Amino acid sequence: MRASRMDFDALIFIGPQGSGKGTQAKLFAEKLGFFYLGTGAILREIATHQDELGKRVKDTIDRGLLLDDETIFRVLEEKVDLLPRREGIIFDGFPRRVTQAEYLLRLLGADGKHQVATIFLGLPHEESVDRLVKRAEIEGRKDDTRERIELRLRQYEAETVPVLDYLKTKTAFFKIDGTPSPDEVTREIAHALGISRS
Ligand code: AMP
Repeated sequence: MRASRMDFDALIFIGPQGSGKGTQAKLFAEKLGFFYLGTGAILREIATHQDELGKRVKDTIDRGLLLDDETIFRVLEEKVDLLPRREGIIFDGFPRRVTQAEYLLRLLGADGKHQVATIFLGLPHEESVDRLVKRAEIEGRKDDTRERIELRLRQYEAETVPVLDYLKTKTAFFKIDGTPSPDEVTREIAHALGISRS
């Protein structure tokens, strides 16, 4: 299904782990025919490489930390360079620091993409933890303990929450409740973006 025209050519999906932002970001990329750029998946792929970069990325992910900006900017630039001009783009997992948000808006500006919207999927801390613990159990990821999940969420709260204030002033900002069913959340996002069904 392709959605009808909307006013934005770049969408940022942001929210705590477990909020469903990855699922929604991919779904809207498909709906809108936008390019999907998820930094988590890109970095996990790089982490399988046996070179210096791969090892560094793997170690950072394993420790539940954020990768340094310089490396992530390099990775991102390569991807964005491959994009056909004028194609819409959806970011999932980026920006996660205010410095990354500043960088991204500069990058999009240079690319002629000025109509940026942020979809912030909110979820209470405890609900995020419960969802992530369940997901780890279902996927048999024994290494993803409650402790590590808490660590990643604390990282999100310390580093990424301040990004929200920045994006509120610089982009069209929509706060969506991530608590209801995925279908309900999809409807809310579509409504916020002014996408009519087609
Ligand atoms: P995710 O699947 O989006 O939770 O990302 C997995 C891991 O990749 C994170 O825990 C970070 O270590 C790293 N990562 C993803 N996106 C970024 C980013 N924008 N900045 C720094 N590190 C990132």
